Amino acid sequence: MNKLKNFPYQNVLVLGLAKSGTAACKVLVKNGCTVRANDLQVASDSVIAELHALGIEVTTGSHPLTLLDEVDVVVKNPGIPYENELIKEAEIKGIPIITEIELIHYLITEPYIGITGSNGKTTTTTLIHEMLQKSNKGSKLAGNIGKVAVEIAENLKKEETMVVELSSFQLMGTEKFQPHIAVMLNLFQAHLDYHKTFENYKDAKARIFVNQTEEDYLVYNASDSEIAELIENTMATKVPFSLSEKELTNGAWCDETYVYFRNERIIAREEIRLVGDHNLENILAAIAASILSGATRDGIVEVLTTFPGVKHRTQYVDQVQGRLFYNDSKATNILATSKALDSFEQPVILLAGGLDRGNNFDSLIPYLKNVKAMILFGETATKLNETGQQAGVEDILFADNMAQAVDQAFQLSDEKDIILLSPACASWDQYQTFEERGDMFIEAVHTLK
Ligand code: ADP
Repeated sequence: MNKLKNFPYQNVLVLGLAKSGTAACKVLVKNGCTVRANDLQVASDSVIAELHALGIEVTTGSHPLTLLDEVDVVVKNPGIPYENELIKEAEIKGIPIITEIELIHYLITEPYIGITGSNGKTTTTTLIHEMLQKSNKGSKLAGNIGKVAVEIAENLKKEETMVVELSSFQLMGTEKFQPHIAVMLNLFQAHLDYHKTFENYKDAKARIFVNQTEEDYLVYNASDSEIAELIENTMATKVPFSLSEKELTNGAWCDETYVYFRNERIIAREEIRLVGDHNLENILAAIAASILSGATRDGIVEVLTTFPGVKHRTQYVDQVQGRLFYNDSKATNILATSKALDSFEQPVILLAGGLDRGNNFDSLIPYLKNVKAMILFGETATKLNETGQQAGVEDILFADNMAQAVDQAFQLSDEKDIILLSPACASWDQYQTFEERGDMFIEAVHTLK
């Protein structure tokens, strides 16, 4: 088991008792720190009992400022905003504020891979992990769909590589965090409610490479002008990837037919199972990062010819009598749905609708040209009906539930059609989560089969 080495703080306040906070508490206390934990929500009895048993003082339901007395560092849950009273007070007192991923720096000396970007993090992180595994390299996935990073780091074996997905919120709370391979996928304006300005958001993202040296690698999207500007002064060895630039002698790129890393052909594009140009960018980044970490061409090809996509993200589900079913339940806005629609040349039957946030769907119209039918549900069904009519979609039906929607789509379909769930809306009017919505779709497809 890996130990925290040279961690410069003794008395720690862990703020936020979700998975990462609870894991941080345990690691810290095992390594001799004195730990206090606090959450505005009331944590579950089992979590509190577990922390008490470790000698951790737990306060829930409020944020008393006295919690900061004698504290050397605050480990903040990434979701807690910096306007939080306790955080503001810690800043006034000059107490450092870090996030759980900073602890990785003190837990392992082995090289690790970090992935960030506005979109595509989960997909790229998963691809790199799979590529390393299929190349018989030990790899451990941490982040959104994996385990908490400190738990992985604590138990990481010498020969294993940790592949960790990183949000701007996590990166903002880092001081020494230094991935051996950092991946920067893209930069759009996002999370401005939290970061306030695009500059602040970019500064947070830049923390993925600020501590890198020339022995480290920065895999970056060379077609993204924001990224090109941001990384200008990096010390790291730059490894570009690009959908549009050709013959990148030190990076990943493609022509009409093949995908290359440096000057080596890796795979023919038609052999790749994942759909969409956005995923091709993720693939280029993953090829570069995994090869730098020891993946083989065979391992990479095996992943790319079989990987159906991360669950709920334009994920290939199955085919029924020649119709191909895709689950893109994660598409909770128009941008995501337009990416999914752009990924197909065949006729599409689109299943869409959900929570009404008051927006209209006009910007979806150009993407509906291959859509031959729409099956609509949820609060936005009427609005989407108007959008579909304006776009000239031939058949538009309404459905009460997912099983009915899938049945209706099948009735209207022909062989080779794509039946795509990509709702362009959040799920909360009809489902607990987008995962539940996607699972209902998968179940309905299997029932149909
Ligand atoms: P994240 O973890 O950053 O949210 P995901 O891999 O979960 O990213 O993908 C979420 C959605 O973002 C996808 O359904 C797709 O619509 C979009 N997306 C994925 N990769 C990219 C990319 N490289 N560029 C732009 N959009 C992307």
